[in-house]
Amino acid sequence: MRIVIKIGTSTLTHATGHLNIRRVEELCKVFSDIKNAGHQVIIVSSGAIGMGIGKLGLQSKPTDIPTKQAAAAVGQCELMYTYDRLFSEYNHNVAQLLITGDDVENPVRHENFSNTLNRLLELDAIPIINENDTVATNEIVIGDNDTLAAIVAQSIQADKLILLSDIDGLYTADPHANPDAVLIPKIQCIDDKVIALAGGSGSNLGTGGMVTKLQAAQICMDCHCDMIITNGNNPSVIYDIMDGKAVGTTFSEK
Ligand code: GLU
Repeated sequence: MRIVIKIGTSTLTHATGHLNIRRVEELCKVFSDIKNAGHQVIIVSSGAIGMGIGKLGLQSKPTDIPTKQAAAAVGQCELMYTYDRLFSEYNHNVAQLLITGDDVENPVRHENFSNTLNRLLELDAIPIINENDTVATNEIVIGDNDTLAAIVAQSIQADKLILLSDIDGLYTADPHANPDAVLIPKIQCIDDKVIALAGGSGSNLGTGGMVTKLQAAQICMDCHCDMIITNGNNPSVIYDIMDGKAVGTTFSEK
């Protein structure tokens, strides 16, 4: 199975922006294991800006573009250093791909990107993709990694996209505000009622929220790729997903 896994900033880092070491170690172990079992793993990782904020000792998420871009430049190094080190322990090679909106909108560049991804998979490497935040400005921004992950899944005909988030899935109401909110295990069609369930933006350091996750789900459903939103706080749920167990919210026409 070819599987794309998107890791949100809140899964990778503590609220301080510093690396959640135990979590990242567990994630890399599980990904290595499912790769050893014969699956292809592609990671879309957020966290560059969050980790840059932590490393530079900034008090909060910057609002100006140059500081965000500077934080991304610092954080992206730490992110890849961490992945490289942890995956090396299991004898897996990682590859960094940083892309912008231009790279998916321009057909030639999009094809180059897909070709590189496919070749990396043939070479048995683990591609780790993020938006190139240091150069992405309004005109060429993809904007959030939920959308980026769905574009990646579409580009390489993935079987599954798993979004690891700080929420268990899509609920009937905002679970932080409403104790009666119930998790919806499966969505077969994204209609107005489903869209109305998505609130605004998510946690403090990341960019996405449920709205961007539903947009990602629509891209996936259009290309017959199943998408699952689940909580990244327990990386072993990936085993359950691979075993076909019901986890989080699955978006699938089937
Ligand atoms: N590219 C951003 C980062 O690495 C994250 C965007 C997102 O979380 O959607 O910090």
